[in-house]
Amino acid sequence: MTDPKAEAPYVVTEPEFDEPSPHAWVADRVWRQRRQWSRFALENLRETELVGIGEEGSLAVPVTPELFARAPVAPVDPAAPVPPEGPLEAQQERLSTTREVGAEFAPTWWPVCCQRLVVLTLVNPTAGELADWERSHLPLSAEALDDLRYSGLWMGALEDVRAGREPCISFNVYQCHACGRIHARLAKYPKLASR
Ligand SMILES: [Zn+2]
Repeated sequence: MTDPKAEAPYVVTEPEFDEPSPHAWVADRVWRQRRQWSRFALENLRETELVGIGEEGSLAVPVTPELFARAPVAPVDPAAPVPPEGPLEAQQERLSTTREVGAEFAPTWWPVCCQRLVVLTLVNPTAGELADWERSHLPLSAEALDDLRYSGLWMGALEDVRAGREPCISFNVYQCHACGRIHARLAKYPKLASR
């Protein structure tokens, strides 16, 4: 099987925006990198207009007790804002006014941990960006993914990035800035999943 993309180096070509994130739940780096179409594996969405704010709204979904128990914990940047604590309805309202970011437009599920929106901290990084992030957080592992049935796909995407290739599937990495837990989610899940 020949995939011309498989061996192509992963290079992000568009400039970053030069502005801080307006949302405590979107890391500055992710905000600056939005609309860098070459960052995303979603070929058919490149160079198209994004949908409007909240039109394809993300759903605020509390992490399960099982995921809370196994998610790896990493240091939180003390200078980074902590999203406000509050009921799920309030978190959902925040997402409805969040500009599109991430490896889905917008991410269909946005985890809620410690009664707060987790912070979207990494989206389809390049090899260098992933290495920098892992140095300041922790090496990403299978346990960070929200659905372990797809850990093979997740580890494959990480392997691609580490080897300098575009990931085989887009992914978002979040961190709860209250407890430090890392929550990773693939942009798309194969059809055998019921979600
Ligand atoms: Zn938490």
